[in-house]
Amino acid sequence: MYGKLTAICGPMFAGKTTELLKRILWARNGEGKEVLVLKTAFDNRYSDTELVSHDGLSADAKAISQFAEVADLVRDAEMICLDEIQFFSGMDLDVADFVSDLLHAGRDVVVAGLDTNWKGEPFAPTALMMAMADEVLKLKAHCSICGQPAQKTFKKHQDDQEIALGHSDIYEARCNRHWIIEKHLSKPGSTPDPTG
Ligand SMILES: [Zn+2]
Repeated sequence: MYGKLTAICGPMFAGKTTELLKRILWARNGEGKEVLVLKTAFDNRYSDTELVSHDGLSADAKAISQFAEVADLVRDAEMICLDEIQFFSGMDLDVADFVSDLLHAGRDVVVAGLDTNWKGEPFAPTALMMAMADEVLKLKAHCSICGQPAQKTFKKHQDDQEIALGHSDIYEARCNRHWIIEKHLSKPGSTPDPTG
């Protein structure tokens, strides 16, 4: 049977990893399934061997830099989860090919990650997964200015760097009204009033 692909996405602080962890823990402990959890070796902010959410849930995970590293583990797993899916690029396989092979082999796949960067530009791996998915969950955070549902990640000190690993020291969630990016980064002093 062809597997099911679920994509969980949204801005930072939307609870994506928590939602993924709930599904992992239920599959492992509730349904007794063999679950393989993958993250990229690039993102080791919290742990190399665990997936940890901000609210304290955790599960065993494997940090990889190439998909070939888990070729054997994948064969034994009934469900494969990929966290921070936006970072799964530049590897030995395209993430779409890797996931497509898993689905054809009857494995269920759940991915979670950022849909766009702080500039509002889509992350290619997430966009591919959302297009292929049977189910897409777009989670929202709360705007740090007004508390309304937030769809965007806002970078507090805007520069040209697309990906800076960090957390609330660098980023916060904003609704569309309060999410403003400075289009002309090279011009100092042109920062729009973020509360306008
Ligand atoms: Zn707002």
